[in-house]
Amino acid sequence: MAAIVLQTEIELKTFIKKVKNKGLNIGFVPTMGCLHEGHLDLVQASKNKSDITIVSIYVNPTQFGKNEDFSSYPSPLKADIELCNQRGVDAIFIPSTKLLYPEKLSYSTQIIVPTISKKLCGKTRKNFFRGVCMVVLRLFNLVQPDQAYFGEKDYQQLFIIKKMVRDLFLNIEILGCPTRREASGLALSSRNKYLSTNEKEKASSIHASFKKISSLISTEIYDSEILIKSVESIILDSGIDIDYFEILNQQSFRKSKIVTTESRVFFGGYMGKTRLIDNFSLSTSF
Ligand code: AMP
Repeated sequence: MAAIVLQTEIELKTFIKKVKNKGLNIGFVPTMGCLHEGHLDLVQASKNKSDITIVSIYVNPTQFGKNEDFSSYPSPLKADIELCNQRGVDAIFIPSTKLLYPEKLSYSTQIIVPTISKKLCGKTRKNFFRGVCMVVLRLFNLVQPDQAYFGEKDYQQLFIIKKMVRDLFLNIEILGCPTRREASGLALSSRNKYLSTNEKEKASSIHASFKKISSLISTEIYDSEILIKSVESIILDSGIDIDYFEILNQQSFRKSKIVTTESRVFFGGYMGKTRLIDNFSLSTSF
């Protein structure tokens, strides 16, 4: 059956009321569209666990900086709806900016998860996680999900959303799903659309560097700095500029001199103008 497309608050509320009256629970997959198999893994996870799956498609202006790609972000809406239909999504919520942000930013309620939002992606994208939390909380309050699904591809985002949900006592179960990759190891991302075949090939160096770190750990090299320094050139030689490349404890997001099974390597950088991020758990490298 085709997914129902909901655009207004009334349409959404009517749909949700019907679902809740039937005693069904709602699984929610927030996205910015330009859907790929990574997004669709979240849809499948929702279909496996939740009764009804709602996908939202909204390119959120508050999480983009001034010189970023908000206006050029790919939005193949027709293809996205078709993919949702094929994968058995029940409803697609496509809100307007007027609905989510009726007033300009300086008049809108803002959500800040401090400290952690300043690390990694938050270092150069100063207001990025504020924008993410502002939109996700608004969407949560509108969609009223029982479960919400997020990708580990954006591990820092997943962590921050979990914290926001805990801190604000939201009654929503947040579930993380593994990163979907191309055969080359490159993590799927809507922004890969900006890359040529050759650039995509080169961008697989990010995952190759993670694998190299993992193999160095298995040879008993445990010093984080040495590990990063040993593999950095794999990424730099492929023509990627590094924004951050760090090994952190995945629970505290603090640097640890010596890697442990709790360590995760985080990368953010640019291939030309295209931002690429990825991360990798080192738990099985020992
Ligand atoms: P986006 O549309 O980029 O905002 O992503 C929407 C959701 O899909 C987020 O929870 C992302 O973490 C998740 N996601 C994006 N890419 C992937 C991927 N390659 N594998 C798994 N989840 C992903």
